[in-house]
Amino acid sequence: MTYQRDNIAAMQGYSWGEQPDDSETLKLNTNENPHPPSPRVAEALANIDANALRTYPQPTADPLRDQLAELHRVDRSNIVMTHGGDEGLRLAFSTFVEPGTPFGMAQPSYSLYPVLADVHGSPTLGIAMDDDWQLPRNFATQLNEAGANLACIVNPHAPSGTLLDSERLSRIANEFNGVLLVDEAYVDFVDPALQHDLTRLISVFDNLLILRTFSKGYSLAGLRLGYLLGDARIIEPMLTKTRDSYNIDLISQHLGAAAIEDRAHAQASWEAVRLARRTLREGLAALGFEVWPSQTNFLLAKAPMTLSHGAADIYARLKARGILVRYFNTPQLDDKLRITVGTETQNAVLLEALAEILDGQP
Ligand SMILES: *Cc1c(COP(=O)(O)O)cnc(C)c1O
Repeated sequence: MTYQRDNIAAMQGYSWGEQPDDSETLKLNTNENPHPPSPRVAEALANIDANALRTYPQPTADPLRDQLAELHRVDRSNIVMTHGGDEGLRLAFSTFVEPGTPFGMAQPSYSLYPVLADVHGSPTLGIAMDDDWQLPRNFATQLNEAGANLACIVNPHAPSGTLLDSERLSRIANEFNGVLLVDEAYVDFVDPALQHDLTRLISVFDNLLILRTFSKGYSLAGLRLGYLLGDARIIEPMLTKTRDSYNIDLISQHLGAAAIEDRAHAQASWEAVRLARRTLREGLAALGFEVWPSQTNFLLAKAPMTLSHGAADIYARLKARGILVRYFNTPQLDDKLRITVGTETQNAVLLEALAEILDGQP
């Protein structure tokens, strides 16, 4: 006898990246920022009076919304704060998807999406990307024909790291009849020379949502803070109806504010990641890996063809050496590794271990 709804009983849960509790493991598997958060965040944390926790926090985290509105040159009504970017995804389902109607996504992408669709009771329409991680030209048409109310695109893309330009995304938003959520979890690591900025599009398309998070760019994955940007009419039902009543706790509100105030600190980490990304990419290529150009803080690397052991084996050998990277045993990815860009020192340790493994050592 189970008390679960049929769709819950039938579904698989999300399998998150390993989080070992020792400090010796070199963690290059969950795309955390290798650099510490701003000292201002530490200061804000130290200054929180436990007695302040007695009362509820500001219900809609308005001071944070105002800071972010100024940063993005939009209005407060264009922003809803969320408990991690993940809550933003869940809100998109509960607000815009009629249970049972299909949810669309580029395939492969963030493996949480189909899990949320399963919880919601909606089938997932995965639209395959090609071998260079481009979307088919008829992406929006396929979504419309299936009757999808919501579609997600990770941009820059995970797990490949590639970036779609705003023209391409505008065309999809324009053609799609449902809500297009562009998941920009990694946007902070995009090369500023590309001048990539989707935020101006929220005043053009009333069906566009942009997801942001403090987890990666601001080195605050442990805090659980993110937000959605969009036209005020698309934000409003999430702000006033589907969100948990006090979804952003008092500690997150204080620490998030400190992180934005000292955005320069985070920006310096993004630049360091971009530099390390380049060295790591060159190092992996020199070892015979095929590596896609990445605008994120990770690289997707295809294992050298000549090797007797494939990507799964390299993953296991690295793990035995105390180095974690991500391996996905799924189509298009099972011959590749997704490697988080660490510090220059961490990357050198990884490259050395890979050289030894490719050389036939355990
Ligand atoms: C990390 C990530 C998120 C959001 O993560 P949170 O920690 O919940 O903010 C969303 N989408 C993708 C693709 C991610 O990698």
